[in-house]
Amino acid sequence: MSETLRIAPQDLTGRAARSPGAGDGRFDRFKLIGWWDQRRLASARVLVIGAGALGNEIIKNLALLGVGQVLIADMDRVENSNLSRSVLYRAADNGSMKATVAAQAAREIYPDVKAHAFNGNIVHDLGLGAFRWADIVLGGLDNREARLAINRNCYKVNRPFIDGAIESIDGSARVFVPDGPCYECTMSQQDWKLLQMRRSCNLISRPEMEGGKTPTTPTVSSIIAGVQCQEAVKLLHGMQTMAGKAWVFSGVSGDAYTTEFQRKDDCYSHDTLDQIIPLDETALTMTPRQLLELARQKLGPKAKLELAREVLEKLVCPKCKDVEQVFASLGKVKAEKAFCPKCKDVRREVVTFFQIRGDESFLDRPLASIGVPPFDIVIARNDQQSIGFELAGDAESVLGPLAANTAAEVVELS
Ligand SMILES: [Zn+2]
Ligand SMILES: [Zn+2]
Repeated sequence: MSETLRIAPQDLTGRAARSPGAGDGRFDRFKLIGWWDQRRLASARVLVIGAGALGNEIIKNLALLGVGQVLIADMDRVENSNLSRSVLYRAADNGSMKATVAAQAAREIYPDVKAHAFNGNIVHDLGLGAFRWADIVLGGLDNREARLAINRNCYKVNRPFIDGAIESIDGSARVFVPDGPCYECTMSQQDWKLLQMRRSCNLISRPEMEGGKTPTTPTVSSIIAGVQCQEAVKLLHGMQTMAGKAWVFSGVSGDAYTTEFQRKDDCYSHDTLDQIIPLDETALTMTPRQLLELARQKLGPKAKLELAREVLEKLVCPKCKDVEQVFASLGKVKAEKAFCPKCKDVRREVVTFFQIRGDESFLDRPLASIGVPPFDIVIARNDQQSIGFELAGDAESVLGPLAANTAAEVVELS
């Protein structure tokens, strides 16, 4: 039994008959489309990752479409150079958090939307619970590391991922659904090479490689985000989509084509959790020891825990033997941190982990202090089964008003 979708299959019969005639309500023109069901959009939960050129168009479309719940994640602030490609930002917003401004702008377009901002790094700070909360995840980011992380998260919690990519006046939209080929299945050797280049030889992130400045235009972001949102509408209606395919648009020639992906059986992303149990606990209240006990109650004495991200535990200097405890998501630590502050040019040994087996020294520390973000899902495994323990006590701090109707699902720890 894997995590289920909230989206019901569409019954395409008789929808038009139930649509009222053209009135002057906000969504009356949509109702003229025979299969359209505005209630599906109103009850939809969409996670938008990235509030840049693509994200702006995505969020604008979702608000116009009457999507009811939107969580917007971005870690950056509005800059002057965003104003030529971002319909939701004004010069007065310069310096403000993109996600916060975009959520406010969405509410101005559609006052009934519950839009909430997550101002943080989506790879390291956004808990897996946010992905499970969503019905659909829409991506508007320009780097492979983020796409791969989003892809793995979506597969773990059985959620579709609609990705967009733009460069100059070209772009593509890709729909990935669990069971089908995923983003990682599409990655070439060149993609992996470029992904590795983002990391130094010690696997610590190199800031100069982050945030590449991709040339983009508002015209192509509007086209690609339009296709992404239209696929989302179809998914929400239980209709056939471009799942497992890419829609590729060449702006120069004006040509567009679709291409189909092959599912790779040995792909690491295909790891949908068998079950997810929400706990009324937070990353600050729960310890690895408590979670491990719970895991062993459910999955037997050999169960171990697994974190969604690799954590840098400590840096050890081979020369002066100094040990610095870090406990931060690996990619979050800057490359210069690798050098010993005392021995200057000496590169320290990087000690990382992502599994917890029960003999670690940090079992009684809160999860938050070992690099687990709020509202994350910690995975328990034995050889046959996987259970995700969701830190649902953090839901409100991450989802804000969007947490309103998630509380009922929470089970308390006995
Ligand atoms: Zn795959
Ligand atoms: Zn040293």
